[in-house]
Amino acid sequence: MTTIGVLADWARQVGGDRVEVTALLTGNESPHTYEISPADVKMLADARILFRVGLGMEEWLDPAIENAGNKGLTVVEAATGITDVIRGDEPDQAGNPHIWLDPQMARISIDNLVRALVSIDPKGESLYRKREAAYFAQLDSLSGAISAELVSLSDKKFVTYHDAWPYFARRFGLDIVATVEPIPGQEPSAKELARLVDMIRSAHIKVVTTEPQLPSALPDMLAKETGVKVVVLNPLESQGGYIDALGRAAKTLADALR
Ligand SMILES: [Zn+2]
Repeated sequence: MTTIGVLADWARQVGGDRVEVTALLTGNESPHTYEISPADVKMLADARILFRVGLGMEEWLDPAIENAGNKGLTVVEAATGITDVIRGDEPDQAGNPHIWLDPQMARISIDNLVRALVSIDPKGESLYRKREAAYFAQLDSLSGAISAELVSLSDKKFVTYHDAWPYFARRFGLDIVATVEPIPGQEPSAKELARLVDMIRSAHIKVVTTEPQLPSALPDMLAKETGVKVVVLNPLESQGGYIDALGRAAKTLADALR
């Protein structure tokens, strides 16, 4: 089992026919505030591996793991071994959890899963390792394609709705100058919004990204006030696979910035 669809895609990529994968989040539910169902807990009770992001994103999962009472469950965190976690201003925070949006850091997360697969299914080791190497090559191609798409942009500044893209921005040299809603689910005050409008004007920001699962009132208001372009990027997209989805997101962003 995985939490988000991206992790399910990675699990299928490396696991092939030896794994059966189900994601808890099947659509665009928020991975920060997902409400787990009794059916989910039942599935957790039967799973061998639970692959989650970590960094405090899926706090709703901890009581469910306890309730499932599955002694044979191996919990794998995508964030384990990632040392350059982006942290906010508050020192007690675990760090920004949207690590999967950096296709190079993805290698560390995928390798965490492969090691768990090998430990419970040693016969599959050569297959897992072979598929992992093939997927890493695809991740390299993706990174190269995204770099090529973004490198020539003269304007790399944008504003995001929620703070999902800092790892992507760091990898590809983009500049996220502000976030509309720094804490997921907590709308900014009128004063914070006024400050944001001023900043968008003075820094000549041309693009604000939003997400299909978020309300569009604030981005629409920013567009009306400042003329900024609203672009929908879905950080949870795994339709057609992570590689295609992230490539499409990069292209959408590049087109808007251009
Ligand atoms: Zn998020």
